[in-house]
Amino acid sequence: MKKIVFILIILLCGCNSMEVNRIIDVNKKVVAITFDDGPSVYTNKLLDVLDFYDVNATFFVVGNKVKRYEDVLKRMVKRNDEIGNHSYSHKWLTRLKLGEMEKQINMTQDVIFDVTGYRPKLLRPTYGAVNRVLRKNTDLSIVLWNVDSMDWKTKNSTKIAYNVLNKVQNGDIILFHDTYERTLNALKIIIPKLLIDGYQFVTVSELKAYNGLNK
Ligand code: ZN
Repeated sequence: MKKIVFILIILLCGCNSMEVNRIIDVNKKVVAITFDDGPSVYTNKLLDVLDFYDVNATFFVVGNKVKRYEDVLKRMVKRNDEIGNHSYSHKWLTRLKLGEMEKQINMTQDVIFDVTGYRPKLLRPTYGAVNRVLRKNTDLSIVLWNVDSMDWKTKNSTKIAYNVLNKVQNGDIILFHDTYERTLNALKIIIPKLLIDGYQFVTVSELKAYNGLNK
């Protein structure tokens, strides 16, 4: 009989409010759904969908939107979703002078901390652009993706769902944007299908821990 091994992942951020204590089965598939460019008017509705299916996600937020959606960020923390940094005003980080680049990252860290008491550990660079200067000058872990839902380009929810379901594999990080209603509708197709296929929905930091144990 196949031995079942459970790992307990505990993520500590120096504050009790973001402590995650969840059991992930290392013999089962995992996927990390991630959302860029928010929060927006759709994010709360998206959290309703995640609540309904009892799954978690990682949100790479834009710093200058955080104050406007303070309650949405607090809700993410309460739900044990992970929050990452996606610059302050969605500037192309690798095209900035070092001082400006650092400002974009640090101001976002500060505003997220002000609102939630949680300091992100992850950075998703704008436009997925990374260079040596960025890597050298940030302590944050740079997170890209394996599967692009193409929700920024594809207008039809069913097609967005197809883009994902056609490609997704165990351990993938999927890119979405919580700035479109079509993404919300696509997730109502994607999440139940992946659950039926046996996927566990983990945050990016949980995925890293899972990968470390599954090497
Ligand atoms: Zn972006």
